[in-house]
Amino acid sequence: MSDDFKMHMYGFVVTWLPVVWVFAVGACVGSLVNVLVYRLPKGLPVIVPSSRCPKCDTKLTFRENIPILGWLMLRGKCRFCKMPISPEYPIVETIVAVLFAATYLLWYVAIPNQTWLGVEWGAVKPEWAKNGVMETWPAFAVLLILLGSLVAMTIVDLKTYTIPLVLTWVPVGVALILHPVNTLLVDEFGLGYSAGTLGNWIIAIPEPGGWWWVGASGGAVIGLVIANVLVSTGAIGRSFADYEEWEAKAIAEEKAKRAAEAGESGESAEAEDPQADTPEMWVMYPHARREMVRELAFLAPAAALGWGGGILADRLGGAADVPLLLLVLTGVAMGYLIGGAVVWGVRIFGSFVFGKEAMGLGDVHVLAAIGACMGWPDAVLTFFAAVLVGLVMAVVGMVTKAKMARMMAFGPCLAIGAVVVLFGKPWIEAGLGALMHRGGPFNLP
Ligand SMILES: [Zn+2]
Repeated sequence: MSDDFKMHMYGFVVTWLPVVWVFAVGACVGSLVNVLVYRLPKGLPVIVPSSRCPKCDTKLTFRENIPILGWLMLRGKCRFCKMPISPEYPIVETIVAVLFAATYLLWYVAIPNQTWLGVEWGAVKPEWAKNGVMETWPAFAVLLILLGSLVAMTIVDLKTYTIPLVLTWVPVGVALILHPVNTLLVDEFGLGYSAGTLGNWIIAIPEPGGWWWVGASGGAVIGLVIANVLVSTGAIGRSFADYEEWEAKAIAEEKAKRAAEAGESGESAEAEDPQADTPEMWVMYPHARREMVRELAFLAPAAALGWGGGILADRLGGAADVPLLLLVLTGVAMGYLIGGAVVWGVRIFGSFVFGKEAMGLGDVHVLAAIGACMGWPDAVLTFFAAVLVGLVMAVVGMVTKAKMARMMAFGPCLAIGAVVVLFGKPWIEAGLGALMHRGGPFNLP
């Protein structure tokens, strides 16, 4: 073997081994996503003893438990009773694995100024990722956890129309820990970040003198904690607390009405379940506006403490620079608060205007989590991307006349929007720049 060939092989392995490894990690996370999607809505414990066939209880062997390959080896059937195993499992594992590997490739492998299939993939790389995986792995891990959670909540939302909130809390918790860890890593080893310059920190943070933002986000977070305590003690009512009672009553009334009608016309009283005819009962709930007043009361402490905290911190901080660690924590908090506020604001406004519940509280949590992981500008972009995704899906639904499960399922739109923003940021920035007749593209952090 020539030395040249050896060097070539070495370079090949060094480049592609991590990609294969990230793909494998993604497949394992996809496997976990399958478990969560199956167990969370049923309230089953998440810690799994071991995977079993739901029909004959046969345990899967270690080899059969391997993501993607296990299903292929079994050819989609239980080894013992031959019951078919849904292809959803390997498909979800593959989706997560591809998302993980694609992020790694774009962030750390793609070379700037080189085009492949007509696209300059290196341009997708965010400023911070240019520092390499050794210096930015915590931020990379935050994104991967977010992607895995988004896949899981999309599937659960499509199946059950609800979003288990724990799936939104996990990425927020990870962002709260790993973004500061990345700061320590960079700050300790001096890896060439200049803090405070918009555009090159990992998530959007305030200017070095931005004490107002530090105080405001800290105050708002404390306000939210207080409001949650007040709700749990019963001092503030939970919004839509009487919804289920109302729904049960409405269905009973509808049933009675149908039974009476059927009796008059002499038909059999065996009317079909009225709920089957009106799957969108929530549209008829008459108290949406009243419940929004309740939600505004819930948000009042956060608004008041946020405003007061901002003024107080601005006074106390004066001309001193905010410590970098505090700036990064503020960046995570701002992403969480602004992301959540966008959806909640639209929800309250829409509900007042239309008199029916607009957008779910679950969606508030989803965009808050996206904001905490990716920063507030990305959260705002994600919202608009999600609205476009929703419109496209509605048009596709109308054209193909496909049965849309529920038009209001905005969670999956938010998840797709976040992926669009993550991989399409340079084009979005260029597009915004052109829209607003600016000389060049926007440089959003
Ligand atoms: Zn079986």
